[in-house]
Amino acid sequence: SEGTSEKNEDISMKTLMDQSIKYLENHQIEEARLTVELIFSHVLSIDRMMLFTKYTMQPEEEKKNKIRNLLKLRAKDKIPLQYLLNEEEFYGRPFYINKGVLIPRNETEIVVERALQELKDTAAPNILDIGAGSGVISITIAKEKPDSKILGIDISDNALEIANKNKGLLKADNVKFLKSNLFQEVNYHSFDMIISNPPYIPKSEYETLSDDVRMHEPEEALTAENEGLFFYYEISKNASDYLKNGGRLIFECGYNQAEIIESIMKETGYKNIEIFKDLNGINRGITG
Ligand code: GLN
Repeated sequence: SEGTSEKNEDISMKTLMDQSIKYLENHQIEEARLTVELIFSHVLSIDRMMLFTKYTMQPEEEKKNKIRNLLKLRAKDKIPLQYLLNEEEFYGRPFYINKGVLIPRNETEIVVERALQELKDTAAPNILDIGAGSGVISITIAKEKPDSKILGIDISDNALEIANKNKGLLKADNVKFLKSNLFQEVNYHSFDMIISNPPYIPKSEYETLSDDVRMHEPEEALTAENEGLFFYYEISKNASDYLKNGGRLIFECGYNQAEIIESIMKETGYKNIEIFKDLNGINRGITG
């Protein structure tokens, strides 16, 4: 609303939205319209698809200030919208998110979908999710496969707090979260599946990430030593001690890592290894 001469109380929601879109575009924010719709829908508690039915309404001063504040934090401080609204949707469910955890990515939905497909014929499977973060993988599998039992582990207290919050919000009673550095605190040795979306960005590529990501998402959730492969080595090496015979290991991975992870998995004795792609046709995961 910078530079407008209209008196605040005369501004319709439609005009405010259009001004807001321009403002974000002027600050090179991608998906300006979607961002504005999500902010308005959040602050005014109107379903996003229903916003147009209220175009002529004139939001109260207090709401407009809230909206302006969020727009500024997004445009100037480059804070990701998911952290501003404390929410991201994953697999059709809303998850609570804050800067203590990685923002869930669409690509991870593909990994979960693949995991569910592999679990199709397994009744009441036990599953271990390593590096649970916000809990999206654990909780989604728990909800989609209600007879499963999931243990989600993470080294970060922040992550565990958020994962437990999401467990409560989404009523996922068949999930348990536990603080553990990799397998350290895991006592069960008969999992049907171990799944992980570990930090995988090489330290050397950290500087190339966008400001949104680099300035606001936790580095420990993003990067890993050893060209980003540290966790694939650690998990592949140890997972067979925690899997039952015929159990499956499934990873998300970086765009150029699938083949090297395949060779790591081969060396550590995995069979039936398959690489799978995300919706952009990029190798995004591997299972064996
Ligand atoms: N498992 C969580 C997710 O997929 C966290 C992953 C991470 O922080 N590397 O979003």
